[in-house]
Amino acid sequence: MIVAQGLTKRYGDKTAVDSVDFTVPSGTVTGFLGPNGAGKSTTMRMILGLDRPTAGQVTVNGKQYAKLAAPLREVGALLDAKAMHGGRTAYNHLRWMAASNRLPKRRVDEVLDLVGLAQVAKKPAKGFSLGMGQRLGIASALLGDPGVLMFDEPVNGLDPEGILWIRNLMKQLAAEGRTVFVSSHLMSEMALTAEHLVVIGRGRILADTDMRTFIDQN
Ligand code: ADP
Ligand code: ADP
Repeated sequence: MIVAQGLTKRYGDKTAVDSVDFTVPSGTVTGFLGPNGAGKSTTMRMILGLDRPTAGQVTVNGKQYAKLAAPLREVGALLDAKAMHGGRTAYNHLRWMAASNRLPKRRVDEVLDLVGLAQVAKKPAKGFSLGMGQRLGIASALLGDPGVLMFDEPVNGLDPEGILWIRNLMKQLAAEGRTVFVSSHLMSEMALTAEHLVVIGRGRILADTDMRTFIDQN
């Protein structure tokens, strides 16, 4: 479970996230809906401990990662499609992540199978299509078998088959009892993916409710 309380991030005199309170329960997919610039990525970075809140706090299963990035064993994230793999192959990228996080080598083969990249794992990831890059990002997020997963705009630029695949994967992860938090600027996408919805606009929470209630009221 993720709990934000008075969570705030200011950049100079710009308030990106403005004293937000919300809860992301486990065992269900929670959508994080808002237009571009609403504060979704900034919020996710603070949850991961990659950005420090200016005020307030956010806890993940009771823990705060405000000073240190969350361990891959606890939180996995697909933050954006921009590659962090340098010129490495998919396999070597994951091997390096596993090694630096003291995860067993066999997890690399497991996640490559899981995301359908086993056949191309020995090819340089910089030659990957957008969809393959997303799959590699998801493999990285799953590597530590974490109980909490965050996906920032995961369907952006994917073909219908890729969108369906990611959507089903997120539902499966939630059905296993994990906490799954996924952002999008598209209500249509959220309605097909999430059972719980947090809506953000200009850094403020506009709704935090179950999807059915939200759709009935809007
Ligand atoms: P979203 O993910 O919803 O598109 P962001 O969290 O990326 O929104 O951005 C929220 C606001 O904070 C935007 O106005 C953005 O320009 C601003 N912002 C984000 N990161 C920085 C930064 N490092 N420095 C200054 N402003 C930032
Ligand atoms: P570092 O030693 O720089 O912290 P890491 O191997 O911990 O390197 O992280 C590499 C990159 O992975 C970071 O730059 C960050 O963007 C991202 N990252 C860190 N922690 C996580 C996480 N729990 N889930 C997803 N991405 C993460």
